[in-house]
Order: sequence, then C-alpha cells, then structure tokens
Amino acid sequence: MVSLVIVSHSEKLAHGVRELADQMVQGQVAIAAAGGIDDPENPIGTDPMKVLAAIEQVYSDDGVLVLMDLGSALMSAEMALEFMAPEQAQKVRLCAAPLVEGAVAAAVQAMTGGTLDAVIAEGESALLPKRAQLGIEEPEAAPPPVDVPSAADGPRELLRLTVPNKLGLHARPAAKLVNIAGRFDSPIEIRKGERIANGKSLNQVATLGARQGDELIITAGGPDAAAVLQAIRELAEDNFGDDDEEVIQPDAVRETGFAPDGLVQGLAASPGVAVGPAALYRPQIPEVETRKVENATGEWVRLLEALAAAEGELAELQRQTTQTAGAGEAAIFDAHTLILEDPDLHTKVQNKIETQQINAEAAWFEVIEETAQLYEQLDDAYLRARAQDVRDVGQRVVRHLLHIEPALPTFERPVILVADDLSPSDTAQLSVENVLGVLTARGGSTGHSAILARALGIPAVVGALNIVPQIEDGQKIALDGDSGQVWLAPDDDEVKALSERRQRWLDERQAAQAEAKAEAVTTDGTRIEVAANIGSPRDAELAREYGAEGVGLFRTEFLFMDRTDPPSEEEQLTAYRVAAEAMSDQPLIVRTLDVGGDKPISYLDFGVEDNPFLGWRAIRYCLDHPEILLPQLRAVLRAAADHPIKLMFPMISNIEELHRAKAVLGEARASLERENHPYGVDMEVGIMVEVPSAVLGADLFAREVDFFSIGTNDLTQYVMAADRGNANVSGLVNALQPAVVRAIARTAEAAQAAGIWVGMCGELAGNPLATPLLVGLGLTELSMNAPAIPAVKRTVRELRLDRAREIAQKVLTLGTAAEIESYLAAVAELG
Ligand code: PEP
Ligand code: MG
Repeated sequence: MVSLVIVSHSEKLAHGVRELADQMVQGQVAIAAAGGIDDPENPIGTDPMKVLAAIEQVYSDDGVLVLMDLGSALMSAEMALEFMAPEQAQKVRLCAAPLVEGAVAAAVQAMTGGTLDAVIAEGESALLPKRAQLGIEEPEAAPPPVDVPSAADGPRELLRLTVPNKLGLHARPAAKLVNIAGRFDSPIEIRKGERIANGKSLNQVATLGARQGDELIITAGGPDAAAVLQAIRELAEDNFGDDDEEVIQPDAVRETGFAPDGLVQGLAASPGVAVGPAALYRPQIPEVETRKVENATGEWVRLLEALAAAEGELAELQRQTTQTAGAGEAAIFDAHTLILEDPDLHTKVQNKIETQQINAEAAWFEVIEETAQLYEQLDDAYLRARAQDVRDVGQRVVRHLLHIEPALPTFERPVILVADDLSPSDTAQLSVENVLGVLTARGGSTGHSAILARALGIPAVVGALNIVPQIEDGQKIALDGDSGQVWLAPDDDEVKALSERRQRWLDERQAAQAEAKAEAVTTDGTRIEVAANIGSPRDAELAREYGAEGVGLFRTEFLFMDRTDPPSEEEQLTAYRVAAEAMSDQPLIVRTLDVGGDKPISYLDFGVEDNPFLGWRAIRYCLDHPEILLPQLRAVLRAAADHPIKLMFPMISNIEELHRAKAVLGEARASLERENHPYGVDMEVGIMVEVPSAVLGADLFAREVDFFSIGTNDLTQYVMAADRGNANVSGLVNALQPAVVRAIARTAEAAQAAGIWVGMCGELAGNPLATPLLVGLGLTELSMNAPAIPAVKRTVRELRLDRAREIAQKVLTLGTAAEIESYLAAVAELG
C-alpha cells in the first residue's frame, strides 16, 4: 500500500495534518510527519534529515507520497531523496497537492489500494470539491491520469521556466522539447499548475495547454539530469524555436456562412485567388470494427509493425515536403513521428489490447480518439487544431493495419479541391500544378493543412461548413484566400474580374520570387555568389527563401550540441543530404567540427584551458580525435557523391595541420572505397582563413587547396588580439579595422595569384556597406546570415567592378576604422 509523509515548517501542523488524515483511514495507511527543526529558539523550518527519517519510517515498495507546505519544504524533501538509494528514491514522489485537503484525499485513495499515480492524482485534484461547492469555475479540466516515470533515479534537478513564445507549447515546440527529452536517459516531468506530463510524451506535453507566460516546473532525475535541463533551458531561450513574427492569430478570421450581399464567407487560410471547376474529394476513412481476440500479444506485434511502416512513410513525406513547402513546414511530420512514438500512447493501447482482449486497430483507434479529444478540450485554438494531427497519424496507422492503400485523387485538369477536411498529409501531397485552390468545410486557419497550403502557395478557404455540402463535382466556383470569400456561381463578369486578379497575384508572386532568387551580378557582368551561413538542415530552407544561391558555411557544431554523444556517421550523412536537398542542389560548404573556444560541448573533454581561444580548438582538437573527424569526413564525402558539397577545415594555422587533415580525408576516402560506398571523388576542399598565420602564409596554402573562405569573426579577434566576446574591447573587434582589411586584401591576392577562388563567411560578408570593398578586393563569394542576403544582392546589382576596385584601393589608404566606415557610408549614399 502507498504510504504518506507530511512535511511542514511547523511540527504541530505536520502532526495535525497527519492526525486528520489518519482519522479518515483509521490507521490503515502508514503516515509519517516531518515538521519543524530541532532548534528550541527557532523551531519553524524544515530539515532534510527529518524528512528522510519520516520516509524511511513508512517506506513501502508500493510507493511513498510526500506532501509539503511552503517553499523550502520542497527543497528539504528533494535533498532527502538524494540521501536515499536510487532504487528506493525512485519509489518516492513529491507532490504539489494542497497540504490538508491533499493529504486527506491521498490517504483515502491509498487505503483503497490505489497505485502511486492514482494517489497523486487524487491528492492533486483535492481542491475540486471545495471549488465546486464555492461555485468557482475550474480553470481547466482535471488532470488526466498520466503515467509519468519517476524522476528520482539519480541526482534530481529542477528547472523553472516561463513559456516565452506567443503560441505556447503547441505541437512543433512541444515536439522539439520531447525530442530533446528523448535523447537523454533521465525521466523528465513537466508540471504546469496541477497538471503533470511525462516529458517524453508529445501528447502529454502538448495537452498541458501551456501558453505564453505560463510557468513550468521541469524536474529530471538521472545521471544526465543537468544536461537535459540545460538543453531545455536553451530551447526555451530560443523561444522554443518559434518565430513570433510569423504567427497568424487564430481569431483574426471572420464569421463563416452566407453574407447579406449574396457572397459566402469562409475562413481565410492561404492567400491568393482561384477560379475553376470544383473537384469533390472524400478521403476514405477506414471503418474500424472491434473484435475479440485470443492472441493479445499477436495484436500488439501487428500494431508495432504498423507503427514502423507508418514511421517510414512519414520520413519520406517529410523529405518530399521539405522540397515542396520547406523544412519549417515539413517539421510538422516530426511531430507526427513523435505522436507515433509516444510511450504514453503505446502503454494505453497495449493495456487496452490486453485487458479488453480486442484487436489492435480498435484499441489504437480508441486511444487516438481519446487523445484527439484531449486536444479539443484545450482553451487555446492553436492547440485545439492539433487534434487534426493526432487523427491524421491515427488514420495512417489504421490504414497499415487494415492494408488499405492511401488514395489521393489525381486530376487531369486544374481544379479547386473541395473536401470536408484535408489532413496535413493530404495537403502536403497536393500538386501545385493541378490544384488551383482548396475549400474545406472544417479546419481552421491555424491547422497544419492551412499552414502547408500557405507554404505551397495554394489559395485556401477553410471552415466553410454551410457552403461545402452545396457544391457539386465540376461546378465552377471561385475563392479568395485573403478574405475568405467564396463564389458558388460566379457570373461571367465576376469570372473575368477574378481571373484577372488571379493573374496579377501570380505575376506579383513570380516577380518577388525572381527578385529574391535572381543572381547578384554587377552592372558590368561579374557574378558574386551570395550564400548563407547555416547551423542545421532546417536553416537551409530559410536561406533559400531569402534567395541564397548556396551555403557558404554549414556550422556543423550545432549537430553535435544538445546531446550526450556525437552524431553518428549516418545521422550526419542524413543532415548533410537534407541540407543539400533543401538548397535544391546549389553548392553547400560543410565545415568540419569547430568546437572549443567559446563553443564547448558537454560530452567532449577539453580540460581546463587558460586561453580557450588560443587552445585546443576546431581542427586542432579534431586532428587529435580521429574518432570524431573520420566519421564526419566519411559522411561529408558520402553526401558529396550526389550533391555539390565542398569541405572546409576551420582554424588551420600551419601547413602541417592541413597535411594531417588531408591525410585523414585520404583515409576516409580509402575506407569508403574498400566498403564500396559511393563518394564525391572530385569534392572541392578549402580552408577557412581566420588566423593571422594563415593570412601570412596564404600563398603557401593557396597551392594546396581549392578555395579560401575568410572568417572575419575570428580573424579580427586574432589580428587585433581582442576577445570577440568581451564587451570592453568591442571597439577593437571591428572587421573594418585597417589591419583586418589588409589581411583580407593579402589573402585575396594570394588566392588570385594561385588561381583559386576566395570568399568570405565572417559577419563582414553580410554588411552591405562592405560589399563594394570586398568585391573590389576580388572576393567572388559572400556567405552570411540569410536575412542579410537581399540587401547585399541589391548592392552588388548596383555596382560596377572597376568602381569597386577603386573603392577598395581607396580603403587601403585609410588609417582608421572610423575613416573606412564613413568613407563606405558615403559611397553607399552617393555611389
Ligand atoms: C569566423 O570566424 O568568421 C567564422 C565564420 O566562424 P565562426 O564564427 O563560426 O567561428
Ligand atoms: Mg571562426
């Protein structure tokens, strides 16, 4: 039987609460009190040792629930757990229930033989009867009983954070959090108010309904508890990966139905105008029947097979969607995969199959429906829309269980697709050529189908509940995805006007895309490749949207962060391929791991260094750790077999290092050769020029590499002997200091003399003021943060090469950074 411990600052209170609870259960539940401290002068407080003694007094393998009063009582209880053997501590849970009501309710539940989870759930909802009696509305539904693994195994860590992003923990941020949680061994609990979620269950995390400003208390227990909480803290600091600027507010939509002017109104979901014949689409929803089965294990195995097949399908769908709609939008299929893998869902389905002896599809379908309904009960419209994703995943698995082929309609002529609803998977597979627009009866502007339609550039109106049933196959209709208007029988004049609007919309889109994507060529015909710096395959997509013509720097260190061990060769291969594909096979330069300095990695031991920036960093560390470098080089070479990938070594400071790095590359090639793995035989190999010795020896290096990429961030700090992260010396850390400009010029000259190309991937490349100088010095590639691309391209297009050379020569005569800056500013203004 579960036992209880009452922790209070006051000894009397602790005993009083115990007495009260005990009276309800008449001594049938073991309850211990740990109150006050042994200091007669000052007896109010809590003592971890007293808590420990109380736990030990009533310890039971069925579990011990600890209830606490205020502030430090929680800390004392946590410390007490640290003194216990991990296998015992695992069975002790701290609970956020109100002390008096919680203790009484939990004791009663324990008396009935409830599990530890049930006792906690009962304790934590103990205020409900009182609230009901007082007529206070529930802020949210009572917490669903959840299976949260104990976070008490090993050292316990706690993180409090306030949800920063506008939309809160909706599917994609929740998926990111769960992804991180899944990479660590520690069990993780996330609490929001009275609700608790298993940090490894997407559904539990998302249905917490955590919104912007909500406080979350995250606890982890286990050897990597600190690391996982740090990774989650960083994710939260990154706004959970959300761009709040892009958020479409779900309430920015209009009422749907028939408007007085004869037009009909749905919800605007994806901009643009469409006119054409309607094509009715009724997706086949497989019928699920419940059957009694004898072999429950066999059903469970069937389900596991269907889950695996569905997961493979989702990986492919994500790959395709990355190409058509972008990696950001395709990330929804990451969330779908996490729903498939959700341990909480699995446990529930397995329990259902076993206890009710029913077939896999029925058990799966019921659990999916229950989960979708949990989402539908949430207050937040964005989160409610996620029910669509849960059902989409559910259908996918059911189809596999019943061996039903998915059937998306194909159209011989362009149509407006009309459906009751479209799942995100259906929407992702729509062909832009044949689907002029989409009109659905259900769905909201924030559903993933709408998000995907926007990314695909297909005009869409959703939520047109009253309208859709009236439409017949082939009927000519029109829709405006900006206003949500729908025309069910447009007359000739309307068709003409709407068709003209559609054409204008198409022309504008094309012009905007062409302008962003067009090459940057000077007025006299010199092409400058304007590329992006990225840290993940996902960034590549964003880069393409900004008009990047390639990736000039893939900072691979980000693949190595937020985890407990290095990514495998296969993982890296996938990341490089995905990035290359997202760039539509424009050139992509992968830089080998650049760690150390200001970029520590928790599982790599750099020791303690007095001067980490001058220490065991980047190529220096990698050359001493071939077990890291070799798999990375193999992955890059393999990805280069069918993509235009180039390789770049960071922080090269002498020729010996370059030779050693090339020797490991040779080893990587030879091993791939032996294993018959295709690889990029002609892959270009370059170095970053970012330390002064590389500048001074640029002529020596230029004979041995295919290109240089100047890293002005480090080059500036090393040339100026000024730490790039130290605000006190930030005046020195300026890439327009004359010494740094001279270093750039010298590097460019050496490259030109040897006939190799030279580019730049340091921050200076993204400063349009510097563009004439860099082009004038002979750089032919500039790689930068994606948002800087359009302005740099514009500057290049206004430039004449001989004028750029004049500007560069003039800059080389100037004596201070201030003079250079004001000269370049004047050039930008006056030409
Ligand atoms: C640089 O040093 O300029 C550079 C691009 O590399 P990082 O900023 O990643 O060190
Ligand atoms: Mg650098």
